[in-house]
Amino acid sequence: MTKFGQTDILLKVGDITKEEIDAIVNAANSGLMGGGGVDGAIHRAGGAEILEACQEIRQTQGTCPTGHAVITTAGKLPTKHVIHTVGPVWRGGKQNEDALLRSCYQISVQLATEAGDTSIAFPSISTGIYGFPIERAAPIALHAVYDAVVNGSSITEVRFVLFSDRDYEIYTHTLEQLLSDNQLP
Ligand code: ADP
Repeated sequence: MTKFGQTDILLKVGDITKEEIDAIVNAANSGLMGGGGVDGAIHRAGGAEILEACQEIRQTQGTCPTGHAVITTAGKLPTKHVIHTVGPVWRGGKQNEDALLRSCYQISVQLATEAGDTSIAFPSISTGIYGFPIERAAPIALHAVYDAVVNGSSITEVRFVLFSDRDYEIYTHTLEQLLSDNQLP
């Protein structure tokens, strides 16, 4: 187990809908109406309550811009909240994709903290249907979470729930690399 400051960081292979934790993060789309990938899995497992909460947010605030997030109930999931964040679609890397991805992780930690949550699980945002190369996304994800948790959040545990052995190996290797290069002070 690695620590970022006082926060435990765990990488694992799994299905994020099964995590018993305060908050899970959904790689949503700006319409907030559900979709494929992890989004579909979360809505299927959590039930209609999550979609209803998303619809209410749509009606009051409109769509959720890329790089932002909203928080809802978790319905039937074994978690208190779902944080729906909209990752960037990969367009070659020069359309601000890195900063938008970083923002997803940071705002998610912020929303969890504001909701009083102390533990949060992330999928690998944008690296599925949205096509962000995972080798480039992993260091951004780890750096962003590092910065967010050491700068005054209430989060004591972060889990990265990766959906394949390959994704898990890339995140693990990236974390080892960042730690050995002293890039995470
Ligand atoms: P995006 O549109 O942001 O790329 P996807 O849902 O297509 O979102 O993919 C994001 C990541 O989530 C991918 O690595 C995908 O393999 C993974 N994923 C899909 N289902 C689950 C799940 N149930 N738990 C955890 N990760 C999942």
